[in-house]
Amino acid sequence: MADLYESIKILREACKNPRAKLDQYLSEGKKVVGCFPPYTPEELVHASGMIPMGLWGGRTELALAKSYLPAFACPIMQADMEFGLKGAYQGLSAVIIPAACDTLRCMTQNWRFGVSSIPMIPIVYPQNRACRASVDYLISEYENVLLMLSTITGNMMSEKSLCNTIEIYNEHNAVMRKFAEISNLHLDIITPVIRHAVMKSAFFFEKSEHSAIVKDITEGLEQLPSHPFSGKKVVLTGITAEPDDILEILAENKIAVAGDDLAQEMRQYRTDTPSKGGGGLKRLALQWNARHGCSLIHETGKPRGTLLAALCRKTGSDGVINCLMKFCDPEEYDQPYFEADLRKSGYPALTIEIDPLNASYEQLRTRIQTFSELL
Ligand code: SF4
Repeated sequence: MADLYESIKILREACKNPRAKLDQYLSEGKKVVGCFPPYTPEELVHASGMIPMGLWGGRTELALAKSYLPAFACPIMQADMEFGLKGAYQGLSAVIIPAACDTLRCMTQNWRFGVSSIPMIPIVYPQNRACRASVDYLISEYENVLLMLSTITGNMMSEKSLCNTIEIYNEHNAVMRKFAEISNLHLDIITPVIRHAVMKSAFFFEKSEHSAIVKDITEGLEQLPSHPFSGKKVVLTGITAEPDDILEILAENKIAVAGDDLAQEMRQYRTDTPSKGGGGLKRLALQWNARHGCSLIHETGKPRGTLLAALCRKTGSDGVINCLMKFCDPEEYDQPYFEADLRKSGYPALTIEIDPLNASYEQLRTRIQTFSELL
């Protein structure tokens, strides 16, 4: 078993420099496919023998992207477009864009014309999941993606390979759930910044590689006595809680992240692909139909608030911080519903604007400090 701190360092390095991971895989002769967030069918890339790598934007000066996207497009897509236009993603064999919101729908066309050197593969997920045809429809979308991936590899993915990949991804889900649970007992070591790095780094590693590193971290933590954390605990919800500046402000105010419902972190790991029910593609489609509590997936009854309250109870959290991505319509539409449910459940919620392109967090520091005094 590798040293706990050494394993954390490896994951933090990958988050600081994803380009180095891309170059490493390329130098090993592997093909890498960029996966726009969220819910890109990474399994199809993995089962086709390539490395799926997440594209979550980052800090950059916007110059070229302004010609393609309006100023009110979310900062993740602004940054992805900018990096694409500047050539930062050169080496990728393709990108997959799930058209899950209006901005992503525009991105498919912007990318096709702006970054023509990297082929774009679109996928549209069904929103009417109560309809049985949604499974057949999604299988046909997956088949289109596979066809385009096969033009890169020269081979069509096999069923055996997909079944193996699904097992790897389900195991990764379980490893991440275990990490989330154990890390809550070691909030002295797993600070908000470190927790985030363990979660985000999953997008830059082949999944069984990432599982092995996170298992080492969890086992290392289990060998230590639990830490009696004396500060406040919160659950984070939203798309991401980046950059680290925000998470550092939490730590400064003795606030720990005890659980999360972030699209970039635990939200993606709560639904496994069923082990039975048909071939690999059908089971992946069934996984999509079983996902719940996400602003990007239509669902009657809007269960996110109930789910967040349950997560607060389970993790012993004092409240919720809603990390509202700037200009993210789906998240804005969800906010009144889950905030009302949280109020009824007695959990305070603070909404903060997430803009990874922003360089100043002084206002946020004051708001988080005030919230910590109310918890
Ligand atoms: S869901 Fe929100 S954060 Fe994600 S691409 Fe769409 S607008 Fe941006």
